Amino acid sequence: RKPVVALVGRPNVGKSTLFNRLVGEPMAIVDDTPGTTRDRLFGEAEWVGREFDVIDTGGIDPASGRSDPLSIGSAEYVRQIREQAVLAVQEADAVLFLVDAQSGVTPADREVAEILRRSQKMVNGNLTPPIFLVVNKADSANLRMQAGEFYELGIGDPYTISAAHGTETGDLLDALVAAL
Ligand code: GDP
Ligand code: MG
Repeated sequence: RKPVVALVGRPNVGKSTLFNRLVGEPMAIVDDTPGTTRDRLFGEAEWVGREFDVIDTGGIDPASGRSDPLSIGSAEYVRQIREQAVLAVQEADAVLFLVDAQSGVTPADREVAEILRRSQKMVNGNLTPPIFLVVNKADSANLRMQAGEFYELGIGDPYTISAAHGTETGDLLDALVAAL
């Protein structure tokens, strides 16, 4: 089977925007309101001849029956972010953990990072699945330079990208397919 890559991160960091770019078809709902993507979506992607499936983990559970976005930091908001992170590590061969260069590190990012690190397993001396820290919305040189602050999440080297503009994704995708 093809390897599976999961996009993980708190709402509004740009998961669906990157998903649409990787998959090349506008399958996910992209909304300006934080936390409005409701579904886990699957799509097929390819980079330098390597094919993989991508999961957009959304972040809001339709089962909760809520019509309003959850308020940031509420218990339910944190619970759903947690659940998506655990699921992603269980079912993916690699995880792209997205954060937002423009907002900097947030408590929800720290929460996701901790869950991801705790959920990885040691297999033949390697932490599995590999997790790539993707600093999205790094639209300017200045923002790209500030990405070093995300080292504090303990996920390793940040890859700065701009999913909206489709720039700088090459290094990330090279590293990703090398790990699959
Ligand atoms: P998700 O909730 O993580 O799926 O985030 P979305 O993909 O829905 O994006 C949330 C918002 O961030 C939308 O308004 C996007 O247009 C915007 N966005 C996504 N990527 C970028 C980027 O690279 N730069 C900027 N400036 N905005 C972005
Ligand atoms: Mg989304």
